[in-house]
Amino acid sequence: MKKTISGLLAVSLLASAPWSSALAQAPNPNYVTPIEEKDGSKFNTENYDFAKFSEIGVKLQEIAKSSKRIKVEVTGESADGFPLYVVTIADTKSQSKFGENKALREQMIKNPEKAQEWIKKNKDFKVPIMINGSIHGTEFIGSDAVLQLIERFAKDNDNETKKILDNNILIFNVVANPDGRVDATRFNGEGIDLNRDFITQSQPETRQMVDLITEWNPMVFLDTHGYVKNYAPNKQGLIEPCTPPHNPNYEYDLYNKWAYGQAEAMESSIMKNKAQFKGDLYKNMTGTYVPQRDDEAGWDDYPPIFTPMYAMYHGAYGHTLEAPTNDEDGVKWMYDAIMGALNYSTTNKQEMLNDQIEIFKRGINFDHPYHEEGFFPEAYVLPVDEKDPTVTEKAVNHLINNDIDVVLATKDFTADGVKYAKGSYIVNLNQAKAGLANTMLWDGEDITDDTPSMYDISAWSLPELWGFKANPVKTKFSVSTAKVKEVDGQGSVTGKGPFVIPNSSVQAVELVNTLIQQGVNVRRDNKGNFYVSGSAKAISSAVKASGLQIESGVTPVDAKKLTKLKVALLEDGGMNKQQTHAGMNLALERLGFEVTELTPVEVAKSGLKGYDAFIYNGTENLISTKLSAANLEFGFQNADQFTAFKKNVDSFVKDGGKFIAAGAGASRAAKTLGLTNATVQIGDPNSNGIVNVDYDGTGVTAGYGQDDIGFVYRPTWYGGVEENEILATYDESDFFLAGHWKGNEKATSQPVIIRENDADVTLIGLEPAFRDHTDYLFRLISNALYTN
Ligand SMILES: [Zn+2]
Repeated sequence: MKKTISGLLAVSLLASAPWSSALAQAPNPNYVTPIEEKDGSKFNTENYDFAKFSEIGVKLQEIAKSSKRIKVEVTGESADGFPLYVVTIADTKSQSKFGENKALREQMIKNPEKAQEWIKKNKDFKVPIMINGSIHGTEFIGSDAVLQLIERFAKDNDNETKKILDNNILIFNVVANPDGRVDATRFNGEGIDLNRDFITQSQPETRQMVDLITEWNPMVFLDTHGYVKNYAPNKQGLIEPCTPPHNPNYEYDLYNKWAYGQAEAMESSIMKNKAQFKGDLYKNMTGTYVPQRDDEAGWDDYPPIFTPMYAMYHGAYGHTLEAPTNDEDGVKWMYDAIMGALNYSTTNKQEMLNDQIEIFKRGINFDHPYHEEGFFPEAYVLPVDEKDPTVTEKAVNHLINNDIDVVLATKDFTADGVKYAKGSYIVNLNQAKAGLANTMLWDGEDITDDTPSMYDISAWSLPELWGFKANPVKTKFSVSTAKVKEVDGQGSVTGKGPFVIPNSSVQAVELVNTLIQQGVNVRRDNKGNFYVSGSAKAISSAVKASGLQIESGVTPVDAKKLTKLKVALLEDGGMNKQQTHAGMNLALERLGFEVTELTPVEVAKSGLKGYDAFIYNGTENLISTKLSAANLEFGFQNADQFTAFKKNVDSFVKDGGKFIAAGAGASRAAKTLGLTNATVQIGDPNSNGIVNVDYDGTGVTAGYGQDDIGFVYRPTWYGGVEENEILATYDESDFFLAGHWKGNEKATSQPVIIRENDADVTLIGLEPAFRDHTDYLFRLISNALYTN
């Protein structure tokens, strides 16, 4: 849910301000005067007087007034409407050559050989270095170090400063997550961890960072975080590169050739100034923890959901930097680390840039010496479902926004023996960013045996989890094509009605909910399809916006009329630094439901009267009575509140209310609340991946079939299901398709979605609404809401 902040003005975007005016339009300091900002976070053991978000725009404005090197822009707004500040610093000479620099960035991905020749001859080129400030709101030191660096590079004239500016253009994303800084939380205003959002890009902050990265193709990308200390004796802070497994879609050899040396340069830079730190923790340090050097597993760069890992697919030497503490020493550690990277890239820019360009060259020439023959397919073909092209169109626009070339077949063609219609989309992999294209479109792999554990998700196939077809083609084929810039699919209505809306996508359900809210009569059959009576005229504008092609059909007799539902969702304010319900909230919004978030205490105090459905998707600790001090504000303060909560949920379900539990924590909570007699089995905590599921195909699982896709995180299955209807099971053999899950064979053929026979209680052992990864499974939620 969006918070409204009074007095927050609309942000005016600065459309390519002329470089000569240091600050074409000042960030308005009045943006933030009426807001209340937190002084620190309960999640940090230390807190200090960090720069408040409201002070930052003012400060940038002041610096800009006294320097010709700096450009300050507002490039967008956060989920809660705060300005996103981007500061570019370059010496005044290079500003006049700015066009030349942009041309070089273009050339790198269009004609890499020429770009390599050019940099050999023109040694005074500048490389863009991007520094991201505090993407996690509570990790305040990042933006503070960034502000100090901005001040230095805008004003100072010492030799080190001048040499760095002679060779680099510095781009600072000053506060990557304003909402999180203001509220002292890790997340943005939608509860999303932005440093997990880089494959899905569901949030405005993430999309702004993607735009910056694709615009500049930075050579180095530094992401500022905290707080890591004592990972090894007297090694303070953390500097990547990472431990294995490394994602096979990287050109990892070229990355690591420089990233490792750059990490050690950052470490040396911190150690050189060791005497200036105040705390003993720093005075006694012997170095920083470099995962790749100091460990074998546990801090991997496998999923491209993290900012630096995403930037690596654009050829950047990407590093996460974790300062040890949240105080002035932590700011200094970060400042010194970044200075180390800047000096290193200054010394090595020629060869580092040459190798960055080499990545694009390998892509374009389809020449991958680091990979086994046949690792990359020739291309992916994305055939289009004519009635509901919405998911494929979303994917195509997503790929294009990520700097991936997509073409459209202008004639029918055959590839790998399969016939495709004209109008199919093609992603050829002989392109500069082939690695990114492949990591987004491949199925992934089962890496269970490769490593003891993973840091975060281990599989994310967009075709499988968003629900569009992308067929890899192994052999060369030819077809005439046209380049696609953007797809803007419009829906249409044909016939006289009643009209059929297939249960085929998030967009289709959103259309249904829009029509219900407009008072249109909509029915739903047991197969999950929707039937609309009323004139074509009455529904045409909503259909046009939806992108679906709607036709007439016959309404089955069993189709039941749908009414507008009032849905309550249990809110996780940030337990253990997560907001576990945020993905479900996002899914419900995208499906077009009106949702009210209720905290555990609110449910305990006021009950669920007036709601049709109550959804629990999150940790079982939301109803625990034994919470740590940091978690207490998000859960129960005493045992009586649990008793009241249980009583209220009980009477809600007895009165015919609908209860939906999604995922492991919620399933356990359902058991604790006495809503099921089934036993809840859970795999290893960090296990996750894409699974093969046999869905029943009606009611709750309508629109899904046998051998269909599911996604698990903390995988769950159910036993003792005598009193339940089994709606889906894990497949009978080798059901684990991709990801990391030790002991997954125990879940073979086991129930994964069940319903109570005597109450409207549905338990889903999958994660149907995991961040924005599982669009394809969102309809399990709308199905569950619409099935009685
Ligand atoms: Zn962090």
